[in-house]
Amino acid sequence: DAVIHWFKRDLRIRDNTGLSLASKIAKEKGVGVIGVWIMSPQDWEAHLVSPAKCDFELRSVKLLKQELAELDIPLYIEVVESSKNVLHRLIEMAQDWGVKNVFCNLEYEVDELRREAKLVTKMLEKGIRFEPQHDDCVVPPGSLKSGGGKQYAVYSPWYRAWVTHLHAHPDLLHERPLPYKNPSSFRKKYKYLFESRVPEAPESKRLDNEKKDRLVHLWPAGEHAAIERLERFLTEKIGAYQATRNFPSANSTACISVHHAAGTLAARTSVRMARDVNSTKKLDGGVEGIKGWISEVAWRDFYRHVLVNWPYICMNKPFKYEYTNIEWEYNDNHFKAWTEGRTGYPIVDAAMRSLNSTSYMHNRLRMITASFLAKHLLLDWRLGEQYFISHLIDGDFASNSGGWGFSSSTGVDPQPYFRVFNPWLQSEKFDGEGEFIRKWVEELKDVEGTAVHNPYEAGGKGAGIAKKNGYPKPIVEHKFARERCLERYKAGIGRN
Ligand code: FAD
Repeated sequence: DAVIHWFKRDLRIRDNTGLSLASKIAKEKGVGVIGVWIMSPQDWEAHLVSPAKCDFELRSVKLLKQELAELDIPLYIEVVESSKNVLHRLIEMAQDWGVKNVFCNLEYEVDELRREAKLVTKMLEKGIRFEPQHDDCVVPPGSLKSGGGKQYAVYSPWYRAWVTHLHAHPDLLHERPLPYKNPSSFRKKYKYLFESRVPEAPESKRLDNEKKDRLVHLWPAGEHAAIERLERFLTEKIGAYQATRNFPSANSTACISVHHAAGTLAARTSVRMARDVNSTKKLDGGVEGIKGWISEVAWRDFYRHVLVNWPYICMNKPFKYEYTNIEWEYNDNHFKAWTEGRTGYPIVDAAMRSLNSTSYMHNRLRMITASFLAKHLLLDWRLGEQYFISHLIDGDFASNSGGWGFSSSTGVDPQPYFRVFNPWLQSEKFDGEGEFIRKWVEELKDVEGTAVHNPYEAGGKGAGIAKKNGYPKPIVEHKFARERCLERYKAGIGRN
């Protein structure tokens, strides 16, 4: 009597491939659409989803439910404790409601792909068609191959192929039609579905009230907030993006990763809208800022394609096999100091404190802090990867794993291992005035001039203020750390 669209990482109505198709099929059959959203606390636990992200999703689901209701589409919400049971419950729902077609958008991580494959056969046994769609990437994984027919493991040639593919298949960027309004009989017939409520987050994922309020203000949820943010960025900032994107204090990036991660905004929508403000209407020409921004959104696709082609990445393995044998340090105090922003390297500490407070970190700072953990502290990059995913509001497995692989040199198309960021030089280059440091490291607020980058080294007033305010001295010495890193990485690679 209806067609189901199962919402997962696509918490929006606009430009949603699966929902749009579900609605088209429903219309053809003269029936309506039922939306389903399942909260699986075990899944959130297993994937280390941050409380901030859980909260953002719940807020977005609430808005989605209201918006769907305006189209007389119910969003049925259920809590299914064990992730294994999600599959069975979905089949039961389809059977209970006499549904013969179930749609969703694909997720590409190994567990999710396996679950989807299982659902196809299990549903078929019951006479139901389960039809997952490509939607999350602008170019579906599997579409791009190098001249030799191989998968790309380097970004630049992959990106050129990505652009060429999109210029050749403009339909990939077309906006998916909005869903139709359901037959009016739906309201009465499925009253109980309309009445299902958005649950509270499981206890382990709950934010305290102060943080919740702060994040609601910083990160408004739902697809309207996403489009508003994107439009503002496209009108006010994208032109200067290429020149300013690396400066954390410039506040010059789009800050929409949270929406891409929850699916309140499709990457396709972002790329199309950015292309459309470009006078050339091309992806890789015209205004530098637009071209540059689109190529950043492309990184998101790149890391997803990599995940599909080399799924062992989902199993805690480095992309580069020869980096499996690096001998890491085991130092809980160092790890703790890194997480709390007490390493004695002001730019690292400012970045970590900003993450802990806002659940977000600027890309340049993600690279600096990740490199610091893996190379200066020589701690296993997976510790940092986990800390990020369990604290970021935009936590996303593929991008996070890609970013950590890049920064620790163990990933796909990485920073060469012998390139060890000097945190002080990075600081001088990208936070020249020390504005970002002073904002987040209270102890150094009164340190004047460039002494803020490395107060103890600078001596004089910088060191005095740092000491007086209890700011720690560097927990590792830079030169020692750099040499230790080069030695250990080299030895690790040599062990293969
Ligand atoms: P903008 O600069 O405005 O870019 C626009 C969009 O492009 C972003 O919203 C994002 O969807 C995409 N994007 C930009 N840079 C990258 C990139 N390097 N890799 C993949 N996608 C990119 N991004 C996440 O979304 N989730 C993560 O968990 C995540 N973890 C990271 C961990 C590390 C160690 C590093 C180095 C990077 C990580 N990134 C992650 C990528 C990047 O830092 C963020 O996407 C970006 O900072 C988000 O801010 P923005 O929306 O203002 O980006």
